[in-house]
Amino acid sequence: METIRVHDKVFKEYLSADLIQQRVSELAAQINTDYINKRPLFLAILNGSFMFAADLFRQVSLDAEISFIKIASYKGTRSSGQVMTAIGMDQDLHGREVIVVEDIVDTGKTLHHFLPSLRQQEPASIRIATFLHKPEATNFSVPLDYVGFSIPNKFVVGYGLDYDGLGRNYGALYQLV
Ligand code: 5GP
Repeated sequence: METIRVHDKVFKEYLSADLIQQRVSELAAQINTDYINKRPLFLAILNGSFMFAADLFRQVSLDAEISFIKIASYKGTRSSGQVMTAIGMDQDLHGREVIVVEDIVDTGKTLHHFLPSLRQQEPASIRIATFLHKPEATNFSVPLDYVGFSIPNKFVVGYGLDYDGLGRNYGALYQLV
């Protein structure tokens, strides 16, 4: 079995590059069907989703747009708690069909706190496409519409996901040994 070393840790191959590509094609086909005659706006969340977003978007055969944003968190007032805000959002979302593209939904905290600010802009619809989901770890409710793979609650790298900055460049996904 193929293993890689990233910093001080060893990871074993968990999803092959071929399997990932096959699944991404299926998701793209589903999106092509669901958004026929529409013009969706993909909002890819950096950094982790860049590879998934590129592979997915390449196979979208609709009139579609893509924009890349970063999410930064800050402590809001005591009543509003944690707030996530988008950096680089230069699109008007009003009336748009938005597809948020994420690398992984772990606890769900990031999207749970970020979605309200998207909804404020009154898009026609918001759906979420995530490459990975860790159901056992998710304790914030987030509506997931397109899920590449549901995986166990173990740390993974590759296909855009990093461990302390490294490991994003692999086409396969690797799980901590
Ligand atoms: P959440 O807010 O859903 O708990 O966390 C989402 C973010 O945590 C992801 O966008 C990702 O950056 C990071 N994350 C969660 N689990 C993993 C993992 O197994 N591997 C890597 N590389 N990042 C993860």
